[in-house]
Amino acid sequence: MAVDVFVSEEKIQKRVVELAEQINRDYAGKELMIVGILNGAFMFCADLIRHIKVPVQLEFMSASSYGDGTESSGNVKINMDVKKEMTGKHVLLIEDIVDTGLTLSSLMHLLEKRNPASLKLCSLLYKPARIKHQVKIDYLAFEIEDHFVIGYGLDYAGAYRELPYIGIYKND
Ligand code: 5GP
Repeated sequence: MAVDVFVSEEKIQKRVVELAEQINRDYAGKELMIVGILNGAFMFCADLIRHIKVPVQLEFMSASSYGDGTESSGNVKINMDVKKEMTGKHVLLIEDIVDTGLTLSSLMHLLEKRNPASLKLCSLLYKPARIKHQVKIDYLAFEIEDHFVIGYGLDYAGAYRELPYIGIYKND
């Protein structure tokens, strides 16, 4: 198994600061509820939140549409839900990757019903070649080609999440 560096640590950190500045401008004067989608977004969420200047309430939730392999199983399961009330709050979801869009389109639909004041999505990665369910990504770090990526929170069968860069997984 080999890992090629696809997006370097330096490039990720530069983009994280740019996104945070954009978020700070857009939410100026407001309070923000950031909802990190576990497990994949934990690192992106932790880095991003350090640069957020508006008051933040941090929550996590977990949903999965993948098994241990590299292809989508087509199922979405809520493993852990947000415990705090979302009604009237400005909610920003932080996701690792929008691939087919199944997970996020289902989640956005579900969370809209909780009547947040606003609901937006921030994703580290987006693979346009794979999209099947349209999702509006309000803040995107990187658009990528159709590769199975790992690192910076993303796993292959539970491994490689700790890498500080995004790599391409090659099974050879
Ligand atoms: P979607 O529902 O958009 O098809 O899939 C979203 C989820 O699939 C992501 O949150 C992530 O867990 C997983 N996923 C999709 N593409 C990749 C990839 O290239 N690498 C890894 N590690 N996970 C992926």
